[in-house]
Amino acid sequence: MSETSPKLRAVLDNIPTYKPGKPAAAAEGRVAYKLSSNENPYPPLPGVMEKALAAAANLNRYPDLACTELMNELAERFGVPVTHLATGTGSVGIAQSLVQSTAGPGDEVMFAWRSFEAYPIVTQIAGATPVMVPLTEDGTHDLDAMAEAITERTRLIFVCNPNNPTGTVVHREELERFLDRVPSDILIVLDEAYIEFIRDSEVPNGIDLYRDRPNVAVLRTFSKAYGLAGMRVGFAIAHEPVAAALRKTAVPFGVTQVAQDAAVASLRAEDELLGRVGSLVSERTRVVEALAAQGWELPVTQANFVWLPLGELSGEFTAACEEAGVVVRPFAPDGVRVTIGEVEANDIFLRTAEAFRKEKF
Ligand code: PMP
Repeated sequence: MSETSPKLRAVLDNIPTYKPGKPAAAAEGRVAYKLSSNENPYPPLPGVMEKALAAAANLNRYPDLACTELMNELAERFGVPVTHLATGTGSVGIAQSLVQSTAGPGDEVMFAWRSFEAYPIVTQIAGATPVMVPLTEDGTHDLDAMAEAITERTRLIFVCNPNNPTGTVVHREELERFLDRVPSDILIVLDEAYIEFIRDSEVPNGIDLYRDRPNVAVLRTFSKAYGLAGMRVGFAIAHEPVAAALRKTAVPFGVTQVAQDAAVASLRAEDELLGRVGSLVSERTRVVEALAAQGWELPVTQANFVWLPLGELSGEFTAACEEAGVVVRPFAPDGVRVTIGEVEANDIFLRTAEAFRKEKF
């Protein structure tokens, strides 16, 4: 038998494996909290659990490939035709399909940096070249620089609004100006994973922007505000050719029936879920104000997390948080992202941040 291993694509050598936020590992005698993956700290609603468990009774069957009930519910909720919708295995699955639908070797996919870690990964898996445009000093998208970085090879541009991990937003006027500058044969993906947490009224709803623009797609998820991260279900809204391409490139049966039914139940319980989002937003305000009082200068966040631009101290701060019982997410050497979680978890984080500041600054 030959000793050689199968030939893998050379491009894979440069692609890091996606690193999830670390799980919370409790130190002896202590509760540990996970503030490392921008999850919703609330458990699923009883009605959602009920639907999910009922669907689980048919796990010997494949799910509805077309996600019919979910698509109809989304179409009604967002006022878009069903033909403009696509669902996927989390919005990250759709992000991968969007890149695969538009870009290959020799093509460029542009996004701000730092932004969502999956963008460079899905770009390189497709064999395309990532073009990473630095955020401004205050952690926001530099849309002028992005417009200037467009080349004949640009095929797709991600705009993450609010941006993960800085939490910053782009406003309606600047985004519309940018969209007007992008040639119409380049797809612009507005990744709105955290849109329900926005309270700044100048931030546009991507769905308003997509309606008159065939080259704009909106990416949404059930993982954050709707609290279904473990279900892996997201959706995109885009004009028909793009939505149809997404349905072609998605992994068949990538959204389980359990996930579909839980997502439908969540949409129907939206008032209650958005009430929880309101509580998390109040917690965010409390955390942001406490950090400011401690002397931290942070980018303005509109998401369910805060960003501490700690630079080289990122690892040390992360270790201090873990020692205190909260797991946070370092992005060395830039900073640390901390999810807004349970009140007790936020309190531990705030106490750690205060002590760290006193010691290091
Ligand atoms: N977009 C952004 C900006 C995110 O932060 C995340 C999750 N961290 C996703 C997309 C993917 O979420 P999911 O696959 O769970 O829908």
